[in-house]
Amino acid sequence: MLIGIDLGTSNCAVSIWQDGQSLLVPNVYGKNLTPSVVGIDDDGHMLVGAPAHARLFTHPELTLASFKRFMGTDHSFRLGNQHFRAEELSALLLRSLKADVEQHCGCKCDRAIITVPAYFNDVQRNAVRAAGELAGLHVERLLNEPTAASLAYGLANQQEHKFLVFDLGGGTFDVSIIDMFEGVIEVRASSGDVFLGGDDFTRSLASWMLNQYPRLDKENTALFGQLLTLSEKAKCQLTTEESTTLQYQWQGETLSWNLTTDILLQCCESTLERMKKPVMQALRDARFSADEMDHIVLVGGATRMPLVRQAVARLFGRFPRGELQPDEAIAIGAGIQAGLVLQDQALDDIVLTDVMPFTLGIATSRRKGEGYEDGHFLPLIERNSFVPVSRVETIMTVFDQQKHLDICVYQGESRLVSDNVLLGMLRVDVPPLPAGEASADVRFTYTLDGILEVECKINRTGLSEKLVIEKAPGSLTPEQITESLRKLDAIKQHPREQLVNRQLVAEANAYYEQSLGEQRQYIADHLYHFERILDTQDARQIAAARKEIEELIAYLRREWE
Ligand code: ADP
Ligand code: MG
Repeated sequence: MLIGIDLGTSNCAVSIWQDGQSLLVPNVYGKNLTPSVVGIDDDGHMLVGAPAHARLFTHPELTLASFKRFMGTDHSFRLGNQHFRAEELSALLLRSLKADVEQHCGCKCDRAIITVPAYFNDVQRNAVRAAGELAGLHVERLLNEPTAASLAYGLANQQEHKFLVFDLGGGTFDVSIIDMFEGVIEVRASSGDVFLGGDDFTRSLASWMLNQYPRLDKENTALFGQLLTLSEKAKCQLTTEESTTLQYQWQGETLSWNLTTDILLQCCESTLERMKKPVMQALRDARFSADEMDHIVLVGGATRMPLVRQAVARLFGRFPRGELQPDEAIAIGAGIQAGLVLQDQALDDIVLTDVMPFTLGIATSRRKGEGYEDGHFLPLIERNSFVPVSRVETIMTVFDQQKHLDICVYQGESRLVSDNVLLGMLRVDVPPLPAGEASADVRFTYTLDGILEVECKINRTGLSEKLVIEKAPGSLTPEQITESLRKLDAIKQHPREQLVNRQLVAEANAYYEQSLGEQRQYIADHLYHFERILDTQDARQIAAARKEIEELIAYLRREWE
């Protein structure tokens, strides 16, 4: 069977072509979206999707998310005592999606169409193919995400059209300008912001919540993690409601917040403001005006927020298209492409080339209190820039009598260089002067052949040093694939039928932690009973007990939300 997969940074979704339409396939937990999160639990078993996502803030050292940003790089992620590449983590996700479809449809599926961002280059596209292969899926085709969205909206059938796809996901923002002509669909320009997404709204809201109680410890990461979980929930509620109330028990105290859409808007104004620039950039690159766009298509979970929709409407002076569930549209498009492939009439889309797929920059220090904090990433060439490109940035010494400047070159999209990939280093002598008085111009030049030239020129002395980086693309060799397969196959996983039960226990546990007194005892009793029945391994008893615990959770959800 052939399936269509949206392998997202925050969430994945799968569609199949059935009875002439593209249908989403729910996962083992009955949800259309599977969080793109992988982790290990306390007894060393691998967790994929929802159960891993639930531990993202509580067990950050045992949980990995947003690894799609590293596809096609040699970045290594540590999980417990093992190391993984982004391809391998993606393969674990794909394996889980594959198993979900096979269980749901009762047949084997071994072929896939996977969507990728329009700006992904060859290395990144090959990495996605490798991930598919590691998951036991032959990747029939890769499809550009904005093209998939256009297919879902039926726009690809029209004769001549230009439209803009506005994709605001969890942590990334992509704007694509699409041009349709004579049955060919072309991504004319792509722009975006890799540090912008729905998660920024969640973080702003969590900070606001923290600030409402001045005596709370602002540096407590465990507390902030809990607030993030709460504010994510509240943010989604404010999509359909004007206001909501939240409560949380912290160190014997009940914290509560009344949240309204006005408060959310207040918290998020600057984030909304940041959406403008990439839109303008994409239009400029494509040499189109906003008025020339026949449609504006909304994609990505964060475009559910009314305030995002309003901001888009204001930006274009008209209402965008958003009839489909925005976080499902790309998977639906992938399912349509699967249908077209099966009928041998697949749509061809033209890939954007000659854009820089990653952000390149250097490590810098940032002022923190009296001193400086190292390890911050200063982007020089942003992802999506047209190649060849050359950019310069001036940097300064931070200490008195500093003897040299160390230029550490990184590739990646994270704010901290420790999460990016180190490409090389360059050391240049500076004249010893008071801090801030010796400066240098750092120039990055990236050529069409993928060669990065870094030049650092000291302004006082005119002295300059050069470093040339020829990045050998981080593709997996056949030997590495075999090795990875062995590694992935050896990973301990919970039997699938136990997954749902474990998830229910985790969910009930979360309510236990939030509750107090009688309600707490009530949940504890249910959990104790359920866990005892699970120990019996008697399928019929387990099924009955599962129903009870599901009812309890449904009741608690109503109570708390
Ligand atoms: P990605 O494309 O990055 O994988 P998605 O398109 O799934 O991500 O979008 C995920 C983002 O959408 C998250 O930040 C999530 O909070 C947000 N989101 C999902 N549903 C809602 C909702 N009902 N209201 C507001 N934000 C939402
Ligand atoms: Mg997406």
